[in-house]
Amino acid sequence: MKAELQQLVALQKLDTSIRKLQAELEAIPQRRAEIEKEFDQRAFEIRALEAARDDAHHTRARLEIEIAEQRLRVERAERNLMSSKKQDEYTAAIREADAARKQISTLETQTLEQMESFEKAEASLKERGEEIESLNSDREAALKAFDDETQAQTDKLAANRAERERLVAALPKSMGALYVRISARIRDGIAVAEARNGACMACFMALRPQAMAQVRRGEEVITCDNCNRILYYTPSDSAPASSASTQPKVAHT
Ligand SMILES: [Zn+2]
Repeated sequence: MKAELQQLVALQKLDTSIRKLQAELEAIPQRRAEIEKEFDQRAFEIRALEAARDDAHHTRARLEIEIAEQRLRVERAERNLMSSKKQDEYTAAIREADAARKQISTLETQTLEQMESFEKAEASLKERGEEIESLNSDREAALKAFDDETQAQTDKLAANRAERERLVAALPKSMGALYVRISARIRDGIAVAEARNGACMACFMALRPQAMAQVRRGEEVITCDNCNRILYYTPSDSAPASSASTQPKVAHT
């Protein structure tokens, strides 16, 4: 009986491990997509910075052409001013030169703004230089590490399942059936629970002293009155402090 209980405990551990691995493997597409999303986001930010830098550069070049055109307009107006013979020609030439100078001033302000934008984007790109340099290889490395981990989990799951089959085959049929019946009924699928300090460690309900004694002997299958799980007892040889008492602790009053 003791050996069979140990087999049930081993089976329970395997089932818990299998369930955990299955849940992790089910989450793989989502977790992988999250890694890709993070790198996509960073690549997007970098492309946006490069676009802002290039845009500022092109806009500044265009503004400089416009400034040159306006300077020609000023020169033309000044020539007209010199050659003007009538008051209205003179006034028109002055207005034209003023308008062109005002336009130049506006264009120069815009040029400064574009230079600032360019420098800001350049500085951000420089700051992220190392990241940009290794972004693609970092992405590949992160995905490879994830895929390797996934492969290891898949292998472990297969090994667990093989071990489980071996265990179930070695178990007496009635024990196997009892285990299946209980684990199917319990929400978390855990059919075997440790009994410690006079209580069931799955539902924490106190056990009758007689039941606890039977569980300690391990000669028959005892189930928890409250949660119906199969109970087992592990002598605590690794924790000397607890060997003095298996009673629940009583607070001093
Ligand atoms: Zn219980």
